[in-house]
Amino acid sequence: MPKIVIAIDGYSSCGKSTTAKAVAARLGYGYIDTGAMYRAVSLFFIRERVSLSSPKEVNEALEKIHISFKHNNRTDRNETCLNGLNVEEEIRKMYISNIVSEVSAIPEVRWAMVAQQQKMGRRRGLVMDGRDIGTKVFPDAEVKVFMTADTYTRAKRRQQELLAKGEMVNLQDIIDNLEKRDLIDTTRSESPLVQAPDATLLDTSHMTIEEQVDWVLELADRRLAAIHRNSHKKAANPLA
Ligand code: C5P
Repeated sequence: MPKIVIAIDGYSSCGKSTTAKAVAARLGYGYIDTGAMYRAVSLFFIRERVSLSSPKEVNEALEKIHISFKHNNRTDRNETCLNGLNVEEEIRKMYISNIVSEVSAIPEVRWAMVAQQQKMGRRRGLVMDGRDIGTKVFPDAEVKVFMTADTYTRAKRRQQELLAKGEMVNLQDIIDNLEKRDLIDTTRSESPLVQAPDATLLDTSHMTIEEQVDWVLELADRRLAAIHRNSHKKAANPLA
């Protein structure tokens, strides 16, 4: 069976990462959470007091950043490392969410991250979630999903996630953060969040995670079957 790239883009807190992770596990594919990469850059910028408006400082900082993912056997999850140190917990905190969209709108930051992401997907067999995967990182991805959900549902989900990690955040603060991030993500000049013309829309407002996973797997199955059929046709009639 050929290996494909599955790109899952969409708004914050629609269940992209959870779905992508489960889909990757079911297919035996790799999984890359590109939001985690922008979060790790944001953490570095905060710690090093990098001025977001200084391209020189931003470029110098980017040279010093190495992001990797390490598998945690206990949780069976890939955890984000910044220059070798595990920052998985830190980058999920609200103070990072409050700055990450500004950081990820900086063109130099995007160019550096997109280059790394494209390298990671060279061998296919990958599920990647983010905002620009189907439009910019892998415009040739075989499966493209664009996720959305209503803001209240997304905020409630994010609040539960934060609570599970011991951070209690007011629902209105989360709604404000999601709306601000959506606005920055959809209006930035460099690869804004937009549904790719060949992406399939998935509204997860009334879906469970299991339903989302099955929906993406079905789409992938159909695509893989079509690729398989085409390769057979080509083999039977190479001049067609
Ligand atoms: O997916 P997550 O919510 O963790 O992403 C954090 C932020 O990183 C997003 O709000 C967005 O601003 C940025 N991002 C991006 N491009 C991606 C992934 C994330 O701009 N591919």
